[in-house]
Amino acid sequence: MNGRSRYRMMAGLTVLDTLPEGFLDCSPRDLHRLFSGPTIIELPGRRQPPLFVSVLLHGNEDSGLEAVQRVLRARAGHTLARGLVLLIGNVAAAREGVRRLTGQPDYNRVWPGTLDHIGTPEAKAMAQAHELMLSRPVFAAIDLHNNTGLNPHYSVVCSLDARTLHLATLFTRTAVWFAGMPGTQTASLAGKLPAIAAECGQPGTPANAAAAARLVESALDLGDFPDHPVRHQDLDLYHTMALVRVRPEVSMSFGGDRAELRLDPALDHMNFRELEAGACFGETGHPMPLDIVDEAGRNVSSDFFSTEGGALRLRREAMPAMLTCDERIVRQDCLCYLMERVPTHALPPGAVS
Ligand SMILES: [Zn+2]
Repeated sequence: MNGRSRYRMMAGLTVLDTLPEGFLDCSPRDLHRLFSGPTIIELPGRRQPPLFVSVLLHGNEDSGLEAVQRVLRARAGHTLARGLVLLIGNVAAAREGVRRLTGQPDYNRVWPGTLDHIGTPEAKAMAQAHELMLSRPVFAAIDLHNNTGLNPHYSVVCSLDARTLHLATLFTRTAVWFAGMPGTQTASLAGKLPAIAAECGQPGTPANAAAAARLVESALDLGDFPDHPVRHQDLDLYHTMALVRVRPEVSMSFGGDRAELRLDPALDHMNFRELEAGACFGETGHPMPLDIVDEAGRNVSSDFFSTEGGALRLRREAMPAMLTCDERIVRQDCLCYLMERVPTHALPPGAVS
């Protein structure tokens, strides 16, 4: 079995129709020996259309790769229940064990719809993957991720149609509706096919890879999506209200005593907890150390936090997600998202009953 003998190269994106030798046991750091860059592998199955699964859009998030390796090892010598199109994302960052290389755009911010990275090689490669997925029927799309704080497993959805919500409940009952940060894969596919990003907890944890593998197996085994709406008791759906960043010029620490913003070192324990107004995130001498934008990109910092008396406190009820105590991630990505529960009556008709 040698996929390299039968590959098609599109500018920036390699497309193979078999697994390269050694793939099933390859570590993320060694993938560069098999792949020169982002690569799609199309595998046959008994049913069509295929399931699209992407892994390692963030190079340090290894659960997705381990999950597909588990699924494919378990099916070795057998045809898959459904065709599978696998995207291996940021091979160069995976080699270094980082989310993205310095100077490289984020592979989950460069999909069609991106505003900041138009014309970059990464945007061109992901646009090719996107075009390939939309040029023919695809059953569903699952983008496998890890995150750094203490988070439960949850899905991110950018559309509230019943098929997308059914796909989300294959993973877990917790889903976050995110109208979409420009350039994410899930946002770029939403409305065109059922698409979720599955946030599988922290990397390097076999249980998280196992959960991701169960999701992929369930989706491969699913004959069709049910016609009926998702039952409301099967789904806890939250909506993102705002994205929270630390202002780049503000020095920060987790529990240190010198920085302008001293965050609670156990902040990530607040993830997915519905917090009351007044919940304290840390101490600061700065009038507003955070930069908070809503989904329309408006600055809403003072709607969500106050700094009276040097305490950084929530001004209103909110539930944080993806809070991390890793300063590098805070600087590269964000401190957290703030969410609220979506009431059933706010959902489109036919999605949830
Ligand atoms: Zn990720």
